[in-house]
Parts: sequence; C-alpha cells; structure tokens
Amino acid sequence: MTNNSYTQVISNEEINKVKLENAKKIILQLQTELTELITNGSGPFLAAVIDENGNIISKTANSVVSEGCSNNHAEMNAIKMAQKNLGTYDLTKFNLSLYVTAEPCMMCIGGIMWSGIKNVYYGVPSKLVEDITGFDEGFKPNWFEEFKNRGITVYGNIEVEAGEKVLHNYVNTGKTVYQPER
Ligand SMILES: [Zn+2]
Repeated sequence: MTNNSYTQVISNEEINKVKLENAKKIILQLQTELTELITNGSGPFLAAVIDENGNIISKTANSVVSEGCSNNHAEMNAIKMAQKNLGTYDLTKFNLSLYVTAEPCMMCIGGIMWSGIKNVYYGVPSKLVEDITGFDEGFKPNWFEEFKNRGITVYGNIEVEAGEKVLHNYVNTGKTVYQPER
C-alpha cells in the first residue's frame, strides 16, 4: 500500500532524532484520537499546538462540514484557538510546534507562516491524501525551503501508515469529501 518514498521522514533541517521520536509519539496519538473524532462527525484531520515542555495549547479537528466553513481546517482551528488561549496574534515568543495528522494544504501553510508557529510536524504527505481521499491540497512550490528561510522547521511523513489507515477508513465509511463545485 505504502510507496517506500513516503515512509522516509523528510525535513528542512538535519533530522534531530529526539525531536523525531517525540513527534512520532504525538502523531500516533493524534491518529488514534482522530479515529474516534471521525465517528462523531469531524473531518479526517487533527492538529495540536504544543509548547517546548509538552503542554498542549490547543488541539482541534477539521470542522469544515460540521461548522459550515471552508476555512476550518484542523491547522487553522488549532492556530486560532492557540492565539485565543495565549491572547496574541503572534505566537513567535512561545516557540510552539504544530503537530498535524497530514501535510498542511495551501491555505494552511499560509496560516502557519503568519501565526508565529516555529516547528511543523506532519503525518501523511499531500500526494497520498489526494490519492486516498480526492481532496485537493492546492499548489505549494518549494514550501520546505520557503519555511526554512523564515525560520520554521518542518518534519514530514511521520508514521505514514497509521495515517493512511485513518484516511482509508474515512473514505470507506462514506464520509463527505468536500470540494467547491467546478
Ligand atoms: Zn489546510
């Protein structure tokens, strides 16, 4: 099922094993929680903003369908909630990490860039999300390099197989894959 190229973790910095092992645990935990959330009507993506000491500042799933808003991707919801909880539009000084079950889409990389988030860790790469679900993830030329230029580290393809299972399950149970009409 999994193409080998997707099981290789990628990063825009030299891979730090401690950070990666920590991220694997968190992403697996998010995938487990996401399975439960999907049965309750959430979209198939979950994101958490976490500080250096492991404190969860926010954690939210995709709520596009349940709340009727196309902006409500998991990452956007998590950033919005983190900024509300911390009382600021700029998270830079808190040195926060965003963990998300799948690669951020075109909108969310913009949202992350303007939020002050310093590190991004994601599970399933966009190409696989599109292959499995049919969602359109947008176009993101050279975003790893662009994030690096802006001081944001990215680690991707973390525990991909666990994430694939969740997405396959979402599609197989007939849940909504929303797209604007074209
Ligand atoms: Zn998104």
